[in-house]
Amino acid sequence: MHNHATRINLGFTLLAGLFAATAATTALADYPEKSITIVVPFSAGGPSDKIARDVAEALREPMGQPIVIENRLGAGGTIGTARVARAKNDGYTLLVHHIGLATAHSLYKDPGYQIEDLEFLGLINEAPSTLISKPALAANDFAQLKKYIAEKDSAINLANAGVGSASHLCSLMLQSALNSKMTFVPYKGTAPAMTDLMGGQIDIMCEQATNSIPQIESKKVKVYGVSSMKRMGIPALTAVPTLDEAGLSGFNFSVWHGLYAPKGTPRPIVEKINAALRVALKNPELIKRQEALGISIVNDDRLSSEGHKKFFDKEAARWSGVIKSAGIQPE
Ligand code: ASP
Repeated sequence: MHNHATRINLGFTLLAGLFAATAATTALADYPEKSITIVVPFSAGGPSDKIARDVAEALREPMGQPIVIENRLGAGGTIGTARVARAKNDGYTLLVHHIGLATAHSLYKDPGYQIEDLEFLGLINEAPSTLISKPALAANDFAQLKKYIAEKDSAINLANAGVGSASHLCSLMLQSALNSKMTFVPYKGTAPAMTDLMGGQIDIMCEQATNSIPQIESKKVKVYGVSSMKRMGIPALTAVPTLDEAGLSGFNFSVWHGLYAPKGTPRPIVEKINAALRVALKNPELIKRQEALGISIVNDDRLSSEGHKKFFDKEAARWSGVIKSAGIQPE
């Protein structure tokens, strides 16, 4: 009798296990069944937000579901990243983040997550930055700006999107190249910083071309240089020198964005998202829009999870060296 009951129980357990496994496989095969959230760790209307919204739009068709953007701001992108690192790993919460992910552990004692908490889904793009100022700043080219900075130094306000943001990293490079001590003013994204720059409350910013081209074109800000080693082909910027040309020899800074999911997201889901990203990044409309903002879409092996992670590790090591040699202590 006892043996019989045990056999029946065992039978039920096996059957329940089989059902659970089948349900899980079906859930994986049916993914995605509802809208997907992409967390952007900076403010709406800024460069990361613009890129994420553009990519979300191009992902809609290959993913077969709407993509919702959630702006989770603060602390140079670490707050939004921690939100995704702790989210359910079911493929419905993703992250678009930039170069700051590779520097956060060098600049913060505890950014609130580990890199191991994330799956790498593919690198998206790369964009140069522009050195810009409020319209009334008394310098019309880089040589004049350099002189102005040498004279005023800490009286100059330099905006950034928080420690570890792209604008902050570019500013650190600028500080050390000019040996200056300008005052850093952190915002929760460069969208509000840009408003203050145009309004004259802030003096200078090193901002991704993605977000500065319209303001440069409409002369709402002044531009002194681009951070890439080659001049940018955008009509508003062809006459603008590279910072390297303008006298900061070797100055080379580019901002990349990538797509991430919480660690442990099932492999079939990771592969599905990666396949959809590859389709999205071939979308001619997306490429056209991004190129008009000076952005290159990634089209090489960094589009794979492995290639993305390999590139990331190289960037993290490179920046850890830059930050250490600049004597910057994590906060
Ligand atoms: N990515 C930030 C933003 O979108 C800007 C930055 O990192 O400098 O606001």
